[in-house]
Amino acid sequence: MTQQAVYLDNNATTAVAPECVAPLLECLCEFWGNPSSKHAVGEAAKSRVIEARASVAKLLNATPAEIVFTASGTESSHLAIHGALAARPGRSHIVTSAVEHPATLALLAQLETQGVQVTRLPVDADGGLDPAALDNAITPDTALVSLMWANNETGVLFPVAEAARMVRSKGALFHTDAVQAAGKLDIDLAEVPADLLSVSGHKLHAPKGVGALFVRKGLKLAPMLFGHQERNRRGGTENVPGIVGMGVACELAAQALDAKAATMAALRDRLEAGVLARISFASINGAGSPRVANTSSVRFGELEAEVILDRLDKAGICVSSGAACTAGGRAPSHVLQAMGLTEAQARATIRFSLSRYTTAAEIDQVLDTLSAVIRRMTAAAA
Ligand code: PLP
Repeated sequence: MTQQAVYLDNNATTAVAPECVAPLLECLCEFWGNPSSKHAVGEAAKSRVIEARASVAKLLNATPAEIVFTASGTESSHLAIHGALAARPGRSHIVTSAVEHPATLALLAQLETQGVQVTRLPVDADGGLDPAALDNAITPDTALVSLMWANNETGVLFPVAEAARMVRSKGALFHTDAVQAAGKLDIDLAEVPADLLSVSGHKLHAPKGVGALFVRKGLKLAPMLFGHQERNRRGGTENVPGIVGMGVACELAAQALDAKAATMAALRDRLEAGVLARISFASINGAGSPRVANTSSVRFGELEAEVILDRLDKAGICVSSGAACTAGGRAPSHVLQAMGLTEAQARATIRFSLSRYTTAAEIDQVLDTLSAVIRRMTAAAA
């Protein structure tokens, strides 16, 4: 990415917040000890990890003891799912949705080959989930319900508070993949009775290679990686610089979160209104559902999104034709297909994902460039 690029692909990854850099470098150069060491150098590193854990907990309204540091959002969700199965011995059913991130779906597909039964709840045309369908899907054999908070492709929010209450009243565990929600909307785990919640550093302006799993007090979680670290819940010497970067990023995200989300939502709405006004055949996927502030999934009729993406890229604008992980492989989005789009319609969709650093001038630049690109493409097709 050049310095000049307009970056609207923040659901793929975010720029590291400048405020994270000095504390992170300090860990590389000065506080490089092993937090498990019982001497001053180790203690210095440990105290930074303790501070960071408190900051992550604060963003979620959890307690520091409930935070387990991992290497990614993917690892957090895997730890949650494996841990939940072990915590509910004798139960072998998991409920999820058809639109989860591959971090969840790929693991569940693998577990299916080992005898775990998986129910994937459908979504409606706006990407929404019917709580009654969830209610019906839970059986006495259900160990875990895993539902994402905000969808990475469309931004559609699932009713996680309601789902968590329902699931717990039936004796199963509830995990939410909050990777695209954390730092963009208020997460209050005193209000939302989730047992497990996954977050990822690099989606909220921390470096890559660090994530966290919230594990509600009282839930004994079996580890995937064995070792004494993270109170026996995740072995492996801590990535102290990454953890410190994540702590600072969470502190920053928590500051005036609602105001920043409102600004992002206003810019997202400006983008969508501009697109709909200039491109008559464009439509917004998931527009009828509540959505996280920063994400817009726009379908351009049946125009090939890869071509639009390529032309925007050449003009210095970075967007995505789907999830970053699937954008490379040309498989049409499972999320959009679950919402009833045809393959051609799914392939005509661009995801714009903003950050708190996005400006109105950038949105206007994108609108101008995009409408010129689309005009040229429709003229060539006519
Ligand atoms: N869950 C969601 C909703 C995501 O968007 C992503 C990343 O795109 C992940 C999980 C995986 O996170 P990570 O890249 O930290 O493994």
